Amino acid sequence: MRNSGGRKYWLKTKLSLHIAFVALIMVALISVLANIFIRKQFEGYVARQQERRTEEITANVGAQYDAVSGSWDLDFLHAIGMYALYEGYIVSVYDANGETLWDARVCDMEACAMIMDDVAREMRERYPGTEGEFAVMDVPIEQNGREIGLARIEYFSPYFFSDDDFMFIGALNTILLGSGVFALALAAAVGWILARNVSDPIRKAVDAAKRMSSGDYAAMIEDNSNIRELDELTKSVNSLARSITTQESLRKQLTADVAHELRTPLATIGTHIEAMIDGVWEPTRERLASCYEEIERIGRLVRDMENLARVESETLKLDKTPVDLREIAELTIRNFEADIRAKGVDARVDGEISEIEADRDRISQVFINLISNAVKYTNDGGSITVTLSETDETAIAGVADNGEGISEDDLPFIFERFYRADKSRNRTTGGSGIGLAVVRSIVSSHGGTVEVESAPGKGSVFRVKLPK
Ligand code: ADP
Repeated sequence: MRNSGGRKYWLKTKLSLHIAFVALIMVALISVLANIFIRKQFEGYVARQQERRTEEITANVGAQYDAVSGSWDLDFLHAIGMYALYEGYIVSVYDANGETLWDARVCDMEACAMIMDDVAREMRERYPGTEGEFAVMDVPIEQNGREIGLARIEYFSPYFFSDDDFMFIGALNTILLGSGVFALALAAAVGWILARNVSDPIRKAVDAAKRMSSGDYAAMIEDNSNIRELDELTKSVNSLARSITTQESLRKQLTADVAHELRTPLATIGTHIEAMIDGVWEPTRERLASCYEEIERIGRLVRDMENLARVESETLKLDKTPVDLREIAELTIRNFEADIRAKGVDARVDGEISEIEADRDRISQVFINLISNAVKYTNDGGSITVTLSETDETAIAGVADNGEGISEDDLPFIFERFYRADKSRNRTTGGSGIGLAVVRSIVSSHGGTVEVESAPGKGSVFRVKLPK
């Protein structure tokens, strides 16, 4: 396994960190791209505005020429020039002969220098990376198609930002940064909640498994997650806990049952032998025979238990071959021939059935147990019928007798280990109450079911259904 000895992280931490990391990258990328794109657009917009402004200045200057008198309104030129100067444009105007009409530098050398300085410094300081510098643009002034002069406009090219523009850029950066931080915080919070939703059920399942391994089988998880896999995990752990609890109580029950089953014959043998040792009883043949019978009973019980243990532990190891149920039923009846004859019972097999895939030995055991019960619990001169039938998917074998039947109270329990409908009666018949538990175990390991119908005094029908 890779990284098995390396550092271990909590799923929650790892997931949140990964989600936060991806969010950080996305937010940074989007912010940078948005910033670059918006700046480019804004720079273009400002440059176009400034070009328009120079055209406007030129047009305003041109309007100050009086074509009739051939003179310029110098006061207005001064006003236009000064106004433009404070906007960052250094203007000088010449007439058609090249004579200077108005020059910002001549008018206010100091203000010009200061404004040029300010604009360049602000641009370089507040907008690093800018490659602009002051450039001179000569624009001819025309009136009715005749050139009447020249406006020379000097400004920081290709564009420069006013205070308002800088404010806009600042606000833009703040918005981008703010929304970035907000998105990041949101992603981190969502990531954390998601990680917690994923990791909490896993954590609980792990805790439950740990508790189970230390013997607390009641370790149930209460939450159900809306994530399908996690919900299944939780349910699986719960059903594991449930089945361990059942197994555990069955194991305890089994030990108690075995102890109970052994106690009676052992006590009988014990008291008999004790009485014989003490000389209270003569060790007669009958008394020894009665002790021997009890010992036989214990032997049978042990054999039955071994049988059940084998069946239950090997349920997964079925050796399936094509099996003819009719043949098995007939063979089993032949094996009980002696008992059947002794009781004068009429036993037969009815119906035909195609072969099914099953473990022959196990299925034989099912017939042995059912037919031996039928023989045991059928009165002299009664009848036993094994009826075979089938549907498309199922083979059905019914073992019916017209014996003493089973009371309604006992019916639900007869498949339980050690359950005997009539304890005293069974003492004589010698059953230990394991036969039907073995039947059920074998049938269910084949994916089949076994059911019973019975009425006291009328008889019983055990119906085994096996998938083909
Ligand atoms: P046992 O070894 O006692 O026969 P089983 O598990 O085979 O144990 O049967 C459990 C109980 O079910 C029996 O003790 C008996 O009371 C009842 N039983 C089983 N088969 C029949 C039957 N064919 N007719 C009447 N009772 C039956």
